[in-house]
Amino acid sequence: MFSPDTINKFASTPTPFYYYDLELLKKTLDALKKESDKYGYIVHYAMKANANDEILSAIQKSGLGADCVSGNEVKKASDEKFEKIFFAGVGKSDEEINVALDRNITCFNCESLQEIEVIDELAKKKNKIASIAFRINPNVNANTHKYITTGLEENKFGINLWELEEVVKRTQQLKNIKIIGIHFHIGSQITDLSAFKTLCLRVNEIQSWFVSHHIPLEIINVGGGLGVDYHEPEKNSIPNFESFFLLFKNFLEILPNQKVHFEIGRAIVAQCGNLISKVLYIKKGVSTNFIILDAGMTELIRPALYQSYHKIENISPTANPKNDVQNQKYDVVGPICESSDCFGKSVMLPETKRGDLVAIRTTGAYGEVMASQYNLRDKVKAVY
Ligand SMILES: *Cc1c(COP(=O)(O)O)cnc(C)c1O
Repeated sequence: MFSPDTINKFASTPTPFYYYDLELLKKTLDALKKESDKYGYIVHYAMKANANDEILSAIQKSGLGADCVSGNEVKKASDEKFEKIFFAGVGKSDEEINVALDRNITCFNCESLQEIEVIDELAKKKNKIASIAFRINPNVNANTHKYITTGLEENKFGINLWELEEVVKRTQQLKNIKIIGIHFHIGSQITDLSAFKTLCLRVNEIQSWFVSHHIPLEIINVGGGLGVDYHEPEKNSIPNFESFFLLFKNFLEILPNQKVHFEIGRAIVAQCGNLISKVLYIKKGVSTNFIILDAGMTELIRPALYQSYHKIENISPTANPKNDVQNQKYDVVGPICESSDCFGKSVMLPETKRGDLVAIRTTGAYGEVMASQYNLRDKVKAVY
């Protein structure tokens, strides 16, 4: 995993910090390109997963488009020279829409009629035509954590099927709007690929509705959400892009001249990131011992927010002289004054002591970007 050299370097770097393996990122991008190119699919990177400069520039160089969810992300993507930029989000402000119009983005993914009317109005003032895709709520269950499922009717996202006809008809009357596509995004960390099959079949039905209404679409955007293996980051360091894209090839029906777009975040960056932290104290509890780290929910909020699992390893060479003797049980917690500030309960580790280095794995996505300075903590650093 980490070479002795790397661990030596860690030992002289102030903790906590994010460590990014740019070589793994490159390999992941190569695998992604290879599989998506097979079918002419266009992949956008969902920037909200990790907007770190080094990471963004590596991704931009690989030729991916960008998928943005705020005006500042649009600015950054355009400054970084991403070619195709999509702007999604259920609450785009007027300022953000103006930024996107000024930067001539490829497409707004729109979530309501009111939003489309505002874009039309703002585009008119600039004498521009805004290209839009309807974000449609396909009512597909992604079988993932309830906070990261987005494609059910009860979620706030997208235009519901029962209102689609009215929204489309009204949009057709707007002079500064051009309808170019439809967009879907059913959730995140989806490991059961059958959810994507259900999505494909639903998209086919919706497509035929547009065909029967003679509304041409050039973009079929099926969003992102492909999950990663948090339990075995070593074994599955690169997601199975082959079966993911093949599934769309097999089940998604497209017309000539249509392009299929994806917006992938987590699957590109999750495995290349690790949060490295130092053990401050070992504290005896009633039924368990605590490892108290110098990293907390301020650096990585996912466990507190989504009860998510991250593999935790003691990477100090002295911790494990006999290799693989993981015979001690610990609750691994951070220093923040919140009981939810816990990275793992009953984690089996070798005997651990003050000063040991711990790696929290698979933290490249929704890690550093979600860091906060609660408790006036320092801004978390990154090492490559
Ligand atoms: C977050 C998001 C994505 C990316 O999701 P991942 O699970 O990271 O692949 C794609 N599209 C939209 C609209 C999103 O909000």
